[in-house]
Amino acid sequence: MKFYPREKIGWEKLEALIEYLPQKEKIQIKKAYIFAQRAHQEQKRFSGAPYFSHPSWVAEEIARMYYSSEMIIASLLHDTLEDTSATYQEIYNLFGKDVAEMVDGVTKLSAVRLKKTWFGLGPIQTEKMPELMRQTETLKKMFLAMGKDIRVVIIKIIDRMHNMFTILHLPKEKQIRFAQETLDIFAPLAYRLGMGEIKGQLEDLAFPILHPKEAKEIEEKIKIQRRKKRRIIGRTINVLHRLLRSHSIKPVSVHGRIKHTYSLYKKLKRYDGDISKIYDLVAIRIIVNDIDECYHTLGIVHKRWRPLPGRIKDYIALPKPNGYSSLHTTVFGPSGEILEIQIRTPHIHDHAEYGMAAHWRYKEESWGKKLKSIFPQTEQGAKWLKDLIAIQKSMNDPEEMAQALKLDFFSDRIFVFTPDGDVIDLPQDASPIDFAFSIHTELGNHYGGAKVNNKIVASDFKLKNGDICEIIKNKTGSPKRDWLEFVKTSDAKGKIKRGLKGK
Ligand code: MN
Repeated sequence: MKFYPREKIGWEKLEALIEYLPQKEKIQIKKAYIFAQRAHQEQKRFSGAPYFSHPSWVAEEIARMYYSSEMIIASLLHDTLEDTSATYQEIYNLFGKDVAEMVDGVTKLSAVRLKKTWFGLGPIQTEKMPELMRQTETLKKMFLAMGKDIRVVIIKIIDRMHNMFTILHLPKEKQIRFAQETLDIFAPLAYRLGMGEIKGQLEDLAFPILHPKEAKEIEEKIKIQRRKKRRIIGRTINVLHRLLRSHSIKPVSVHGRIKHTYSLYKKLKRYDGDISKIYDLVAIRIIVNDIDECYHTLGIVHKRWRPLPGRIKDYIALPKPNGYSSLHTTVFGPSGEILEIQIRTPHIHDHAEYGMAAHWRYKEESWGKKLKSIFPQTEQGAKWLKDLIAIQKSMNDPEEMAQALKLDFFSDRIFVFTPDGDVIDLPQDASPIDFAFSIHTELGNHYGGAKVNNKIVASDFKLKNGDICEIIKNKTGSPKRDWLEFVKTSDAKGKIKRGLKGK
């Protein structure tokens, strides 16, 4: 799958991509197309292109991955709540609750930002890294919690992809912030969702903006290597076609593939910059019909060309943690050249490119296994997953599958903003007192009141996801005993008790 930025808009393009959907759903998509186009009317992108070129691109990519009509509609409408006069109620009435909630989810996610001050100030200061990393983790969690519905996160990833394609039209400071967020949040999320190709593209778009010098150096190195290898790749592909034919295997495709720039950059750092040690810079990918043919092909390849010891990887029997599977081997090719060969089925291939989306087309057992890789590290994640696998086992149509994807992850955490856009991660029903103490002990000790979304609230107010909370300081204030009755964090409890003793 290749992504190209596109300025021209046309219904015909989307229409061709939604062939796989029933007529009734196509009509709904057309309705949303017209609705969104009208809503954005005269609006322009930074590039000067009509604004609607953006949501229509996102919708096309979502359709290209064979997602549901609801997701395509939500993609078309994804910026209408934030940027136009369209309302939630209007979208609800015209396109239903599911679509309205998705659009609302995407809109809320747009508020999630890395703290502005990290960017536009040149290189990030290393002493601030731990805080930045903590914030990045929180943001990732928040992204999921506010997304709730994983479909919202997927739309947001594609939305970001288009924004990255058109990023050169933005002011420099914004470019750097977008690129950093893309590398820290969007690319890892895409990877965890198994969208390997999209992750690679996001990184390659962000890399030259954050590290222009290094990016240029790598591009040069790749160009030279590619020139050197072009002939050898062509010859190997011809030999492979002949070999496979003589064993009655009709490959779906045999092609060369170049490693993504950013992942090469990271790998080169581990090899002291010596590009001759990177064997998978250019790889040959063989796609055959089924798993049996994968192993058969591997045998054929090894019989013809001697494999390098220690570099045969069976990710089909032992998939990578994010679900990636394929057979990899590195051989001494036709003229003694070292070459990496990857063997997979069309299903595995789609999977590596589209991630979970591939399962809408191929229904099978490994779907549960795939999901397990998304967020395996928490207990909560494990429970959520068990539920999801149970649901998955009992369902067989895409509608149900879409329902199952509406996860309620991290449901007992809320994320509250400071007035400068910092994110504070708190337990459900936390109060402004918890909020104040989690920012700074002094702020809690001198708590004088709080405003939530610009309205004064009581100290036992229950904060909600996405609230903006501002603490009003009282220089002579001190902790109150009755706070202990409603605070939720042990951090605040401990600090209040200590404050009371000190009186
Ligand atoms: Mn957008």
